[in-house]
Amino acid sequence: MLGPDRIAARFNALTVLGQSCLIVAVAAAGADLLTLVFYSIFFSDRLVLDLLLTSVIVLFVASPLIYFFLRRSARFAELAAELETANRTGELTGLLNRKTFLGETRRLVGTRETNGSTGAMLFIDADHFKAINDSFGHATGDAVLREIGSALKSCIRESDVVGRLGGEEFAVFVDKADFAQAAALCGRIHQKVKEISRTLGLGSRSVTVSIGLSAHEFGQELEALLSAADRALYVAKSKGRDCTAQAVEVRAAA
Ligand code: GH3
Ligand code: MG
Ligand code: MG
Repeated sequence: MLGPDRIAARFNALTVLGQSCLIVAVAAAGADLLTLVFYSIFFSDRLVLDLLLTSVIVLFVASPLIYFFLRRSARFAELAAELETANRTGELTGLLNRKTFLGETRRLVGTRETNGSTGAMLFIDADHFKAINDSFGHATGDAVLREIGSALKSCIRESDVVGRLGGEEFAVFVDKADFAQAAALCGRIHQKVKEISRTLGLGSRSVTVSIGLSAHEFGQELEALLSAADRALYVAKSKGRDCTAQAVEVRAAA
């Protein structure tokens, strides 16, 4: 038996044209039913003709109106989807914004506590980025940020989460990966980012990033994971940049 929710779901799965046809068919059948009831009371010898006429009138009047109405609501649905994307991502890089990145990561970290898989957080910051802006202008700085975003996307797996936390700071949550896999990913990111200078024709100015890497420990809150990766990033910067520092090293050194 189809309930109202399943009927609505099936209706929504139809194209706008399909929905329009269905509504018109139901309207015509309803109008015909009313006509039938009306004639069963007043007995007429023109029943078939009037049933036909009723259907034709409904078809002509309702079809364009319904099609127009549904086209509009389909457009509204498109706009809502565009708004949703704009709300989740940053315009410059197309990566998840800070809020969405944290939300998605929190969800993954939450499930990790129960199924035993591990993950790791990468805090990534462009090196001497202010100098790139100062030397080549803000537009080139923006292009570098876009390229860093593309480089990160090209290095991660579909199950990983990448976001731009703000300014020249990015983060990746490497899902279900051990420390060695996450460290290997950092290596690939360093390599890929180094290609940006040549891609954008920046001459001798190199583009590099520093990375703070922290493995997720069972039961560890997202905030604790983030601050461990952040502290590791600080160490990577102080080591001379263009390198990865791991949170374990940071803990051992402390
Ligand atoms: P460090 O290696 O220590 O990270 O040095 P840095 O120069 O990268 O860091 P700093 O915090 O001194 O400068 C960051 C710069 O990033 C300053 C700011 O103008 C620039 N910036 C932030 N957001 C954007 C952006 O959207 N576009 C551009 N072009 N620049 C940005
Ligand atoms: Mg920086
Ligand atoms: Mg920074």
